[in-house]
Amino acid sequence: MTRSLRACLLACALTWPAVVAAGELPPNELGRVMILEYHKIDQPEERWTRTPDNFRRDLERLWERGYRLVALNAFLDRKIALPRGTTPVILTFDDSSPGQFKLIEKNGEWIVDPDCAVGILEAFERRHPEFGHAATFFVLPGADPPNRLFNQKELATRKLQYLASRGYEIGNHTLWHANLAKYPERVVRQQIATAQEWIQRHVPSYRIRTLALPMGSYPTDLRWTIEGADGQNSYRHDAILMVAGGAAPSPFARTFDPYHLPRIQAVESELARWLSYFDRNPQERYVSDGNPALITVPKGSGDKVRRSDAVKVAERP
Ligand SMILES: [Zn+2]
Repeated sequence: MTRSLRACLLACALTWPAVVAAGELPPNELGRVMILEYHKIDQPEERWTRTPDNFRRDLERLWERGYRLVALNAFLDRKIALPRGTTPVILTFDDSSPGQFKLIEKNGEWIVDPDCAVGILEAFERRHPEFGHAATFFVLPGADPPNRLFNQKELATRKLQYLASRGYEIGNHTLWHANLAKYPERVVRQQIATAQEWIQRHVPSYRIRTLALPMGSYPTDLRWTIEGADGQNSYRHDAILMVAGGAAPSPFARTFDPYHLPRIQAVESELARWLSYFDRNPQERYVSDGNPALITVPKGSGDKVRRSDAVKVAERP
């Protein structure tokens, strides 16, 4: 055996099992879904920073394993319209840091920086339109720079309108990243309602449907985060997102709890661990049947589906 062949066999053995491509897995719409949580997209790679090149590589790794982007709100609405054999993945970005969304001037026009997260996502989508188009930005409208609405003050309106009009989602992350566990009801509600009001100054008709808890800290009473008002401003959230907890249950599962939605921090160690986990345990992945009107689940697991009139369930033979 030649040395190169031996090296190749060894490498193959180390990367076993092989990556499963889109379309090869049987449908399982009770499988789990990764909600990835990014912070900074910048240099160098650090605990809370993913470099632009590593972010591109993440998209590549997801794509080649048959993952496709689904919007968080579509996931909550249980409207996952993906081709048969593919798996939804959700991208979220916390803290509105500059590298997530930056505009640069070119020939007198503002264009999206090709090295910011939005620019990278859009370039990837041009190359792979079937990968899809979706991301949720949990922004901080009242934080100190550089985390206040992506840190280009005079472009904040243009940017939020760009996100809303292009089908990205904007989520609440409180006014300035308040640790909600520390505050009484009045302050918790103020943080949430004022954040929404300040975001809506830029995108007046935009309805914010989700809240990501700063540091994952729940306030004393969960209900304060779900709906309420502060003065004239009322808010209502369809989901509350944590900062950790692993892959989320299928939204069709009885165990699905939108007010405790777990996420996976998109740092190399966590991402690699979960990609490899689902490579080794493909039966745990949500895999679409290609028919949004029907929920296909493994044989014998029909009783694990959260039933509603709108859902027709078929057990896979
Ligand atoms: Zn945060």
